[in-house]
Amino acid sequence: MESVNPATGERVETYDEHDDGDVEDALAAADDAFQDWREVPIREREKLLANAADVLRENKERYAKLITREMGKPIEQARAEVEKCAWGCEYYSEHASQHLGDEPRASPAGTEVFTSYEPLGTVLAVMPWNYPFWQVFRFAAPYLTAGNTGVLKHASNVPGCAKAIEEVFVEAGYPEDVFQTLLVGSGKVDDILADDRVKAATLTGSGPAGRAVAETAGRHLKKTVLELGGSDPVVVLDDADIDEHIETMAQARYQNTGQSCIAGKRFIVHSDVYDEFLDAFLDEVDGYSVGDPENPETDVGSMASEGLMEELHEQVRESVEAGATVERGGEPLDRAGAFYPPTVLTDVPKGSPADEQELFGPVASVFEVDSEAEAVEKANDTDFGLGASVWTEDRDRGERVARQIEAGCTYVNQLTKSDPRVPFGGIGISGYGRELASDGIREFVNRKTVWIE
Ligand code: NDP
Repeated sequence: MESVNPATGERVETYDEHDDGDVEDALAAADDAFQDWREVPIREREKLLANAADVLRENKERYAKLITREMGKPIEQARAEVEKCAWGCEYYSEHASQHLGDEPRASPAGTEVFTSYEPLGTVLAVMPWNYPFWQVFRFAAPYLTAGNTGVLKHASNVPGCAKAIEEVFVEAGYPEDVFQTLLVGSGKVDDILADDRVKAATLTGSGPAGRAVAETAGRHLKKTVLELGGSDPVVVLDDADIDEHIETMAQARYQNTGQSCIAGKRFIVHSDVYDEFLDAFLDEVDGYSVGDPENPETDVGSMASEGLMEELHEQVRESVEAGATVERGGEPLDRAGAFYPPTVLTDVPKGSPADEQELFGPVASVFEVDSEAEAVEKANDTDFGLGASVWTEDRDRGERVARQIEAGCTYVNQLTKSDPRVPFGGIGISGYGRELASDGIREFVNRKTVWIE
């Protein structure tokens, strides 16, 4: 398995893939480790997770560099990602036992009834490259602390990150085999998931990958959580303070070089402020420094691969052919590496790729609407349902509109983000289940009723 620096096209490192024998050994070891790990008091598991946060911080620079070299993210954003992982670990190291404590239930006099949250066993995580550390810690921090063991099948373009994450748990002092990385391609996922020793699976990635995992899991009656991307609306109402928020709104689209499931992708702007918004947005875009992701001044780096860039460019080309206007960008940069410039499209026709598909890269679609009702209608005119944001100076209005948007989360005057304290996940073709907070840690546990007469 090769990792290639998408900013230069150079090979970073080559790794040996695991063969069927290695996979068998890993699943057996994970199952064995589970028998002991489930008996470790949760307070001990929380302490180990706090150690993992320390290991992440101690090695922040090294891990950040690895992330940037494997998938092209600007280095400052890679550092922030490692910090966020440490925060996620700290959150569950402080709250897991509270989220999983026995929960008393109403019951007849003389009985004692409660719910006990017990681990399931080995959970398979199929993870993407876009936040190659955070996506994994979002899974591992809660589910391991709940007493499960984990096997990671990471995206094939970030094997170095996959190995480094395994190292974090070893250095933090976790018992052997509680967390293991399998360096295998997606073709192996079906067999791993079908194995009796794997009890559940979580996948973050594309719709086709999610459907494939859900089908196999369904056949074997295994629980899944799926996080499959989105086409988040950014609703800018006529009373939005554009000056104050434009930097954040643009960041919502272009951070991580636009390769985020919860990026703001469709900007739905009231006609009263449309011109003001577009001017300010283009100014932000013009101010971005695009280039070498290892330079700390860079705002927009390389995309994760040339293939992904070509797919994105095809979506842009089709949208332009259908009638969209290119305000900025729109062509790959004429240089080595997978560099696509921050792009802004207006006059985006209904049904074109920039209107109805997920554009997983630095391309914003801007729509003009004439009323709040029309804005809500446009925001909901999608099969996705991951996140959304609403921008208004009237908090009551913001709340009212937020409640009408069909998505797993809606932020008012803030960009959509995942935060360990609040549940995260989607509806519709964005997937199902929730990660993070108490909801997340309870996804892969047996919620056992205990009734004592
Ligand atoms: P994929 O969904 O293909 O990859 C994500 C993970 O799923 C990887 O580990 C991949 O393995 C695995 N996978 C892929 N196909 C299958 C399958 N049939 N069965 C089991 N596992 C599978 O994402 P891509 O990297 O190809 O990106 C394509 C698009 O996916 C993006 O343009 C974007 O729209 C979406 N995406 C969404 C993300 C999100 O955060 N929701 C993150 C990344 C991508 P392998 O790498 O070995 O193929």
